[in-house]
Amino acid sequence: MGQILVLDQNMINMIAAGEVIERPASVVKELMENSIDSGTTKITVSIEDGGRKLISVTDNGCGMDGEDLARAFEPHTTSKIKTSSDLLGISTLGFRGEALASIASVSQVKCTSRTKSQTGANCIEIDCGNKSDISPASADYGTSIQVRDIFYKLPARRKFLRTANTEMGHIAEQFTRIALSNDNLDLTLIHNGRELYRLSDKDHLHQRIAELSPIPSSGISENLIEAESNEKSLHILALMGKPSISRTSKKFQYVFLNGRFIRDKFISHAIKEAYRGLLELNRFPVVFLFIQMPYEDYDVNVHPTKSEVRFYNANLVHSQILGCLREKLLGTDLQSHAVLPTATGPTEMQGIGAPGHRSEAISDAMAEFFKKHRPVQTQQQFSYKPKQQTVALRPGGGQIPESHTGTAMVSAFAQTSQPVPEICSEQRIFMQIHDSFVVVQTDEGFVIIDQHALHERIIYEDLCKRIRKSKLESQKLLIPESFDVTPSDADLLNTNAELLEKLGIELVPFGPRAMAIQAFPTLLTKADPLDFVQDLIDLLGRKDINLDGEKLLDEVLNMAACKAAIKAGQRLTDSEIEQLLRDKVNAESSSRCPHGRPTTIKFSISDLEKQFKRT
Ligand code: ADP
Ligand code: MG
Repeated sequence: MGQILVLDQNMINMIAAGEVIERPASVVKELMENSIDSGTTKITVSIEDGGRKLISVTDNGCGMDGEDLARAFEPHTTSKIKTSSDLLGISTLGFRGEALASIASVSQVKCTSRTKSQTGANCIEIDCGNKSDISPASADYGTSIQVRDIFYKLPARRKFLRTANTEMGHIAEQFTRIALSNDNLDLTLIHNGRELYRLSDKDHLHQRIAELSPIPSSGISENLIEAESNEKSLHILALMGKPSISRTSKKFQYVFLNGRFIRDKFISHAIKEAYRGLLELNRFPVVFLFIQMPYEDYDVNVHPTKSEVRFYNANLVHSQILGCLREKLLGTDLQSHAVLPTATGPTEMQGIGAPGHRSEAISDAMAEFFKKHRPVQTQQQFSYKPKQQTVALRPGGGQIPESHTGTAMVSAFAQTSQPVPEICSEQRIFMQIHDSFVVVQTDEGFVIIDQHALHERIIYEDLCKRIRKSKLESQKLLIPESFDVTPSDADLLNTNAELLEKLGIELVPFGPRAMAIQAFPTLLTKADPLDFVQDLIDLLGRKDINLDGEKLLDEVLNMAACKAAIKAGQRLTDSEIEQLLRDKVNAESSSRCPHGRPTTIKFSISDLEKQFKRT
């Protein structure tokens, strides 16, 4: 006798539910999406016990009449598509006709609905697939669905539910995604009777982001850069987090395509590339990306939860997004702004929140510095009206005072009331501290520059520019420098001969197991040729990173820039500092070193005034 049985419809639904309904948050997503498709202006989501006990979603959309209400919970029933050609341009969030049937097959559901033209509402109840008849009910127009005791007849699935808090976290995330892409709706999320979010349709998108995401909400406008482009039937609006608020995961990258939250590897890659060189390795930018494009240009019918799509021209999407984001980032001042603490007294001044522990240390040192050397006339307000005399420490070419005391430093800031030139101006006021950092007065206050990081960036950009044009210029060494090589080293150097040629490094055999460096790039005169080639061999031999053409070259240029740059601890002359500041102005993206660390930290006079209680 045959072993194969035809599954009954309820079993089919339960199996389908396995794909669509993973946990309470999936129910919230599907029900909210249905509400949006119904043309609602307001959705209230109320949850009990992380959704294990109750998920209730109420809207004021188009509603359903009795006939539709009975049909909506059947499998493969939808009002959103009719023919296969409709699949080519889906404008609604749902279209598969599976969600309600799936939800009702794994829980107890009660749905009340009323269209605007009806005088009374209808109600239906379904208990794990067993449907009641439609009965009259009293309710306002719109739809309200209560989903209770999810998976209660499926202990294996119920067991996989996590704590109420964890499940609520997933629900809040789904709510957030929908709220970000629908800022024209009033949305409320309640848990165990407590209101977690009440979002008004009057809110500006920035406000909504501030309420929903953990970005420092006070500084949301300072921390997000807005970019927009509208080309080739692709409208892009991006709110990009500055590198200083980057995260350790991609969790804060929200991408919406025509209002649908999606994950897409091409778009993720475009975002990553846009921030290339602006972030440290293993840091991910905060990005809110809203893309509008014709529905016919992509397919959403590739994933049960519709969180992935297939673009017909993925390359275009990639290049448009990359171009829009990158251009904006490079044209924006991304200098890290030192955040002075809100502490009330000088004794509490510590832990200034600039990114990275080194910058924190500098900030701490600065705070300490100002704490010790308060100006005498403490009550005087800073005035930017021109005055005759300018106290400058080293106005381009002056002497470093033997002991550049704090008092001198402070008086430079306190008394310099002439409109202070920006870094690029002729009359610069600067000083080098600890032979490692350059402090420069600016219009708004002062900046501290990490001399190594900045120089590294400048050299890196120079190298990139030159190598893009042709190869690096090199010069012959007076005495070729020889070094031992293993057969595998020699092999590596041989296979990468083209790269060496591009870099302007000339190597010649020097005995059976040795080679000699005959020529070395002019730009890298500060680097030691032997040390450089040795590290290059190590880099070429690294198996743990998958380096090919472009990436390898980039890695090598990074290394070269690091080796050729001024080091920390190196005393600089005035003209060297001036050159550095001039080059900073011309650099494309001078606020970050090639590894993404900040090169410059800003301090504003207004923050200092607050700290010194001048305001
Ligand atoms: P889909 O959304 O893919 O069409 P669903 O199973 O989610 O499938 O819903 C089935 C149908 O029920 C929808 O096509 C829609 O006509 C109707 N429906 C569901 N939720 C609502 C709602 N909140 N308001 C009005 N109609 C709804
Ligand atoms: Mg749906």
